[in-house]
Amino acid sequence: MEDRSQSGSGGEPQELNSCRICGGDGRIENTFGQVGRCPSCHGSGRRSEDTGFRDVTKTKASHHRPTNRAAVVEKQTWPSTADGAKLATEIRDAPGLSAETKANLTRDIIDHESTHGQCTKTFMRKVRKQFRPAST
Ligand SMILES: [Zn+2]
Repeated sequence: MEDRSQSGSGGEPQELNSCRICGGDGRIENTFGQVGRCPSCHGSGRRSEDTGFRDVTKTKASHHRPTNRAAVVEKQTWPSTADGAKLATEIRDAPGLSAETKANLTRDIIDHESTHGQCTKTFMRKVRKQFRPAST
């Protein structure tokens, strides 16, 4: 891993972004001698390993958790029960709530879950009342 190349040991920086299959020209020659579009970069010549959808926003859907989680989960930030997550989603999407209020309500849910093991209907109703005025 020790490679301090002072006199460029192979490669312009551009190569880093070049498709590794076709080498950056977007075409590859198959075994029949035909030139076709590179299946990896689809002809763009750019490396496509990174094109996977990467969610950098803070919004997290409960059914959509990243599989490569960090080694240690320090603090739970999202309810673990289905009901709790649903409620937290409602809170997250609720208009007119400050981020702080949302965070507080979400934490309430998590707390409640850890105490009761689930979100009781009474609790959910109580929480909902705080961000969703009962309509008659
Ligand atoms: Zn390619």
